[in-house]
Amino acid sequence: AKYFTPTILALGIMVYALTGDPLRLASVFVIACPCALVLATPTAIAASIGNSARKGILIRNGESLEKLSNVDSLVLDKTGTITRGRLQVVDVVGFGGHSESEIMKFAATAEKLSEHPVAQAIISKAKEMGIEIEDAKCFKVNPGLGVQVECEGVNIIVGNDRMLKNHSISLNREGESYLERRARIGTTVFVVQGNSVIGAIALSDTLRENAKDALRKSKSNGVTKTVMLTGDNELVAKSIGEQIGVDEVQFDLMPSDKVDYVTELQAQGHHVAMVGDGINDAPALASSDVGIAMGLKGTDVAIETAGIVLATDDLCRIPKLFRISRATMRIIKTNIAIAMTVNVLGIAFSTYGILPPLLASVVHESNALVGLLNSLRLLRVD
Ligand code: ADP
Ligand code: MG
Repeated sequence: AKYFTPTILALGIMVYALTGDPLRLASVFVIACPCALVLATPTAIAASIGNSARKGILIRNGESLEKLSNVDSLVLDKTGTITRGRLQVVDVVGFGGHSESEIMKFAATAEKLSEHPVAQAIISKAKEMGIEIEDAKCFKVNPGLGVQVECEGVNIIVGNDRMLKNHSISLNREGESYLERRARIGTTVFVVQGNSVIGAIALSDTLRENAKDALRKSKSNGVTKTVMLTGDNELVAKSIGEQIGVDEVQFDLMPSDKVDYVTELQAQGHHVAMVGDGINDAPALASSDVGIAMGLKGTDVAIETAGIVLATDDLCRIPKLFRISRATMRIIKTNIAIAMTVNVLGIAFSTYGILPPLLASVVHESNALVGLLNSLRLLRVD
């Protein structure tokens, strides 16, 4: 507006000065009024936001939609995104004579205040077994590793093998052989009392059935690289990675490592969309170019941080999003091109007196309508 308005004013006055014809001056002003140009972008964005909403995709700002059209790397979190995040305890073992219910009691006590899917699984299993869960003190979360509490003066830790390493607790032989057997199948956490590992809990999660499809379709919609990030161990990560056909798998990541990975990709010139549920991945969602939150099971933090929220569990909405965003940019560009061409030609015809003011206003209105109708095509992108 800063350049356009003075330019058109000057142009109109010049035309009048040269021709002395007030009708030509009127035609220039009528045709140059940039309605179509101004409507080109917002109508397209509004149509696409509407279309997406009907598909259960909530786009919180037009900027995300625009940025998405440049995205070449799709990064997904594992737990809660590629998997359902509805973990279940499938096996409990006590080492050195500890009973299963003892292990579950310690574990549930420690996990009482955690909101991680691992914690939810342990608590519901403990309740199922009729175990009374006690209150503990000094609850502390180590994101991506596990939790620790103090109960009756004794330190209890529930976490993965890296959590044990961080606390300089060595895994006993029983623990190691258990981990070896279990690790490929699913998440395994250990229960530590004081300084000794007293048991282990194996959990399983199910893949979202269309994860593989979603990745494949994203690839045919402009994504060149797909990556799965996880705080889980190498064996689980690789086995899931193979099942869904992701290009790259990054495992043993802390939440801050996930951020580092995203920023590293961006530094290499990639445009990154990150999908997550907000548990241990909200910082990475925030640092990506476009954050996509799993809205149904996701945390409030994820929904707040992400520019796009999926109000459904269907990962196939992601390739749809890519399609919609690319179509939106295409329509915006054609809208702008049509608007500019009509304006420039209209001004030229007005200057030469070929375009009377009445006809100019018809052309001008039709120009805006053409853009509007063109944008409405976005309602039908599937
Ligand atoms: P992902 O990156 O796959 O979404 P997270 O970063 O949330 O996974 O967690 C990574 C790992 O950290 C889990 O697989 C688990 O071993 C451990 N962990 C995280 N939170 C807890 C918890 N509350 N209790 C026990 N272990 C946990
Ligand atoms: Mg997660």
